[in-house]
Amino acid sequence: KMANETLKQELGRASWRLFHTILARYPDSPSQTEQSTLSSYIMLFAQVYPCGDCARHFQKLLASYPPQTKSRKTAALWGCDIHNKVNERLGKMEYDCTTILEDYDCGCGSDELEADD
Ligand code: FAD
Repeated sequence: KMANETLKQELGRASWRLFHTILARYPDSPSQTEQSTLSSYIMLFAQVYPCGDCARHFQKLLASYPPQTKSRKTAALWGCDIHNKVNERLGKMEYDCTTILEDYDCGCGSDELEADD
């Protein structure tokens, strides 16, 4: 079956959206468990990502730039930086990371620590 660039791009956009939204909602002061959970999630994401070429390149990037999980801000900026490295390789514009936390609102309001609704 031929590779379909449109589908590959849609998958990329959906994946990046989830990726950055998770990082922008990660705790400000994560526990050790939360830090290792995020790190594992990202490493496993890179292994299961269904575009094989993308996964291979992303795994190499992760080896050089491992996930930064000390705080929400460092995690979100790390995610923005690594996406920019993918952008660079694909000949895309660099993204301005200064408002990364505001850019990825999950629509969850202020209920991040609550179990209701
Ligand atoms: P995308 O890069 O998909 O970005 C979507 C939106 O996110 C942008 O419109 C912008 O609003 C925002 N954005 C852009 N840069 C950043 C940033 N640095 N931080 C935060 N937000 C940002 N495609 C390939 O052809 N080859 C590959 O090897 C490849 N590897 C990939 C690896 C991974 C892990 C992922 C998730 C995707 C990969 N893709 C790859 C897909 C590719 O990155 C794009 O998703 C796809 O080409 C669509 O690009 P786009 O221009 O719509 O913007």
